[in-house]
Amino acid sequence: MSHFTDELTNRLTRYAAIDSQSEEDSPSSPSTAIQWDLLRLLKTELEEIGATDVQLTDYGTVLATLPGTTPGPVIGFLAHVDTAPQFNATGVKPRVIKGYNGGTITFPDAPDLSLSPEEFPYLATKQGHDIITASGTTLLGADDKAGVAIIMTAARHLLENPGIARPTIRVAFTPDEEIGRGVNSRLPKDLAADFAYTFDGGAVGEVEYESFSADGAVVKITGVSIHPGLAKGKMVNAIHLASKIIATLPQATMTPEVTDDREGFIHATEMTGDAAEMTIKFILRDFERDGLAAKGALVEQVCAAVQASEPRARITCTIRPQYRNMRYWLETDMTPVDLARRACARIGVSPVSVPIRGGTDGSRLTEMGIPTPNLFTGMQNIHGPLEWISAQDMAVATELCLALVQEATVAP
Ligand SMILES: [Zn+2]
Repeated sequence: MSHFTDELTNRLTRYAAIDSQSEEDSPSSPSTAIQWDLLRLLKTELEEIGATDVQLTDYGTVLATLPGTTPGPVIGFLAHVDTAPQFNATGVKPRVIKGYNGGTITFPDAPDLSLSPEEFPYLATKQGHDIITASGTTLLGADDKAGVAIIMTAARHLLENPGIARPTIRVAFTPDEEIGRGVNSRLPKDLAADFAYTFDGGAVGEVEYESFSADGAVVKITGVSIHPGLAKGKMVNAIHLASKIIATLPQATMTPEVTDDREGFIHATEMTGDAAEMTIKFILRDFERDGLAAKGALVEQVCAAVQASEPRARITCTIRPQYRNMRYWLETDMTPVDLARRACARIGVSPVSVPIRGGTDGSRLTEMGIPTPNLFTGMQNIHGPLEWISAQDMAVATELCLALVQEATVAP
């Protein structure tokens, strides 16, 4: 497997150095113009390795075909080019620790920061690997440039070795996954795959086909604004009502910081405004439809109760769907999941399927008709300065990609 590690390291470090952070509040698509830099580079590189139908769409997705040499399902491989808006992603300086010695890793640009195998047991299993991190002041962006590197490496290998039988493969590199806008309404048709995989997972073995179902809620509170010197009996302070809503919601049992496994949550992500008007944004998450609906209903009930306590204010609550648990569709046809599990077996990896406490581009794509489980890349500690990945793990993911192609050419 080691013959891929140098290429993967080279690709990941090159892609990671290109700032492609997405931005939640931007109305444009892609959300940031800088994402075009990496998208254009990938288009060029796909052309250089001999992919066909290479296209960069106006919605910021690179598409390409590896023409099939044998019949079989058309398989899509996807990764996202954007990095998370939650942490500094400008000026990423990737560095490679060759032959990791198993000790604590320190960071050149952040002397107080350390990455230890005691705190992160997965790291302890990577002794001797080549570990890639950022320099301490930024995230790395292995999420999901590792996925991009893995797909590019597998595609290069397949195109260079036409003797390896393959069905038609479609490649897609999407923008804005981190802000939930990676799947344009035209993507399913443009991708034209029977099923697909995102390479956007963590530890070796992850074959994920269950994600959160997700809604967003926006609560707007309009108080009564008046000069505070003349306010007695007249002012209604929106800040106080917003605080009441937050305090009434179940903080001890239903927030991200107190839930795990299959539990959902209500997460207040943003509160802005002033005494006259306040806005609170929530994300609602649950693995089940009724659990998600109950969380939305709870936010609405709390808003209604606070509204009833102060009729002079105006409180509105708007709930919008974001994505749905891909299991709803995949459990009716497990073909892509079974194929991934057989591919894992082919390369001696034990597949592990745990529900993703989040969503992927595959959540939306699955809902829109292309079943798309998520596969491991090796990425760890994503969205922060301790992000790291093993080049050897990426090589295993590349082998998995190739094994999937092989499995797809043999009858199930
Ligand atoms: Zn990701």
